Amino acid sequence: MSMATAQAQSSPSAFDVAAVRAQFPALHQQVNNQPLIYLDNAATTQKPQVVIDAITRYYSFDNANVHRGAHCLSSRATEAFEESRKVVADFIGSPNHDQIIWVRGVTEAINLVASSWGRSSLRAGDRVLVSTLEHHSDIVPWQLICAECKAEVVPIEVSDDGIIDMDAYTTLLDGRVKMVAINQVSNALGTINPVKEIAKLAREAGALTLVDGAQAVAHWPIDVTELGCDFYAFSGHKLFGPTGIGALWGRRELLENMPPFHGGGEMIQRVSFEGTTFNDLPFKFEAGTPHIAGVIGLAAAVRWLQGIDRKAATDHEAQLLARCDELAQSVPGLQRLGPDCNRISVFSFLLEGTHPEDLGTLLDQQGIAIRTGHHCAQPLMSRFDVPGTARASFSLYNTHEEVDALFSGLEKIQTLFT
Ligand code: PMP
Repeated sequence: MSMATAQAQSSPSAFDVAAVRAQFPALHQQVNNQPLIYLDNAATTQKPQVVIDAITRYYSFDNANVHRGAHCLSSRATEAFEESRKVVADFIGSPNHDQIIWVRGVTEAINLVASSWGRSSLRAGDRVLVSTLEHHSDIVPWQLICAECKAEVVPIEVSDDGIIDMDAYTTLLDGRVKMVAINQVSNALGTINPVKEIAKLAREAGALTLVDGAQAVAHWPIDVTELGCDFYAFSGHKLFGPTGIGALWGRRELLENMPPFHGGGEMIQRVSFEGTTFNDLPFKFEAGTPHIAGVIGLAAAVRWLQGIDRKAATDHEAQLLARCDELAQSVPGLQRLGPDCNRISVFSFLLEGTHPEDLGTLLDQQGIAIRTGHHCAQPLMSRFDVPGTARASFSLYNTHEEVDALFSGLEKIQTLFT
């Protein structure tokens, strides 16, 4: 029995972590002569064997370009590619699969909306609200387009616990606000934001909402219709799928009226020097040869996740976080950032007397992978007056023993500095 399996079996959770872990080859290795403890899931998750197999199968047997070939391999590739769109549409509750646009990830999705919707809709004096919790990918694209349109990006303040100040938000919602762009879960703190309420208030004030679901999709089921947002974006690699692929969902009437993002093959109906007409949804936004293997891998990841008891997985993750918070209380000089409740997966902290970067390196020597730094959330770090934090982030395949190992690791590090 491998060490990882033994650890998982002794986990007090009802969730069958051992069975889940067994499907992830990367988890069963040693780094720096120690069993790998992978706690950097907010950055990217490991991939189950079914995802790796789906990509290998595609490249081994079905590799061809999609939509335009008159041969068997192209038909197979096209069928798998378009079937994947239906899988993803179903996964996030989209009424139609042609409202799913393939993008490289959340970053490209937000750039698409900012560039296409923003350039055609924002006027001088308009405002885009983003929370102080946002990842740079939900700030910078808005800054770029607002600078062009003479509009303004305005931050919504957060409390000392890293919770969006809803009073401040409501006060900001005046006629100038055209878009509210918000993450569903903060990657830096794990705060779960009330996006349904935020979208409702935005709608009542005549503004649109874009929800960045990067840190949410792997943790509980999503229904875009129920959320009431106008755009929803997620990245495949945080969802047990490949890097370089993600999806943007948008309300049909918005997508239909938005100009193309990129020009090129596939996004046109007819090209002439007198004038070019554009393709229907979703192809209008998908210029060029897409990441076919990525799309197929993403659908395999989604199917895999749909085969998991999501409620049990979420409960398991909540138990990991609860254990983490409990153990943290007995570590002298440890300061945790973020709220006590309405938080998922993320344990962001500082340890007195050690720099987060050093913590990352010293934990890595013990086989423990965490993230350190500003987490692409510099405005949030400024809000807390820290240059960065150390962040352990959990996934459904982590075990209670791995949480314990993190704290023994921290204890060892503290003895080095005392
Ligand atoms: N938003 C959030 C909340 C994230 O955590 C990330 C990735 N760290 C992104 C956006 C950007 O995602 P990607 O790099 O996959 O485009």
